[in-house]
Amino acid sequence: MTLTTKVLLGMGLGIVVGLGINLLGLNADGSFVNTFLTNGVFGVVGKMFVNALKMLVVPLVLLSLIAGVCGIGDIRLLGRIGSKSFVLYLLTTAIAIAVAITGAALTGIGSGMDIKSAAEFSGADAPPLADVLVNIVPSNPINAMAEGEMLSIIFFSILVGISLLMVGSRAKSLIDGVETANEVMMKMVGIIMALAPYAVFCLLAKAMANLGLDLFVQLVGYVLVLIAILLFHLFVVLQVLLKVFSGLSPITFLQKMRNVQVFAFSTSSSNATIPVTLRTVVQRLGVDRSVASFTVPFGATINMDGTAIMQGVATVFIANIYGVDLGIGGYLTVILMSVLASIGTAGVPGVGLIMLSMVFSQVGLPLEGIGLILGVDRLLDMIRTAVNVSGDAAVSCIVAKSEGKMDIDVYKDPNAGLEGD
Ligand code: ASP
Repeated sequence: MTLTTKVLLGMGLGIVVGLGINLLGLNADGSFVNTFLTNGVFGVVGKMFVNALKMLVVPLVLLSLIAGVCGIGDIRLLGRIGSKSFVLYLLTTAIAIAVAITGAALTGIGSGMDIKSAAEFSGADAPPLADVLVNIVPSNPINAMAEGEMLSIIFFSILVGISLLMVGSRAKSLIDGVETANEVMMKMVGIIMALAPYAVFCLLAKAMANLGLDLFVQLVGYVLVLIAILLFHLFVVLQVLLKVFSGLSPITFLQKMRNVQVFAFSTSSSNATIPVTLRTVVQRLGVDRSVASFTVPFGATINMDGTAIMQGVATVFIANIYGVDLGIGGYLTVILMSVLASIGTAGVPGVGLIMLSMVFSQVGLPLEGIGLILGVDRLLDMIRTAVNVSGDAAVSCIVAKSEGKMDIDVYKDPNAGLEGD
């Protein structure tokens, strides 16, 4: 059995066991199942696994990006890769939210609905754009690493890489050292991925056992429209962009991305999934490491197509419930705000709702509206994170292909990168 098959099996079993526990009502607070199973074994194993992934993110991004910049060796090419991926990330996010708003508006979800049981939700203000820009340059790189500030880490690593290149032959041993250390990190990713089937089972069994299915029934319109648009973006929009911009086969892309999507689905975090995305994009999809080591962590931070879709659908849904007419201007502000919010916020669980609150304060929608959808957000976060990481990988492929930094034989080979799995 390949690792992907095992991971998918872990996912399926986890969903079945978790839903079984939920439907049979076995997960009441303080019950045996709740204490020793869902919050016990499943919770502990799942958290240990997510911690292990997070443990790899900072050293992996740092080392692979320094090695990547030294590998590219050409600062102009670096600039092109940076600007192309930035534009494509913003473009895909803007398309995602525009499609979401249109799709949700066509269905009219939320109109005439009267929901009283809104949970408490306190939002956050949008960080001023100036702050986002200033924080890209870390005043203390160690602190940025400790806090996992991805944009600062990317900035610092690129600068180190460029300086190493400028030092030239005397830096050769250091560059070799970074290359070797990067290989060691990649091996660690492989070791941790080997444990994934069990961890994915635990993460999903716990998440599903805790789901409040009643709320799903109440919000079925919102949930279904959102899932439909997320799937449309994943299977149609991204694949059309991939085909049109790079001529690569969407079927191969989707097949090879399955593992990454399951990781994103189980952890609800694009950031924690970076090690797996990077490994897959390089070893399975054939993107040159020099490109992927930049585009993947950059995408995990600024590119959130799935999250943007949630924001679009949620805005229409809540505006309809409260009978607010945002008008074209209001919706354009929503698109702009949501694209900007995605730049300043990292890919971690639940951050989408915080971003939504920034959007709402901008267009004057009531923040307590977010309390309405809070209860169903856990599962939706899992699905949209899978869409987010797929967008990162698709853009990485498009940029690499356009710069001749892609090994097409690896892309086409169904077994590429499976060794070591
Ligand atoms: N969990 C998402 C991610 O990590 C962000 C969000 O939508 O909450 O990409």
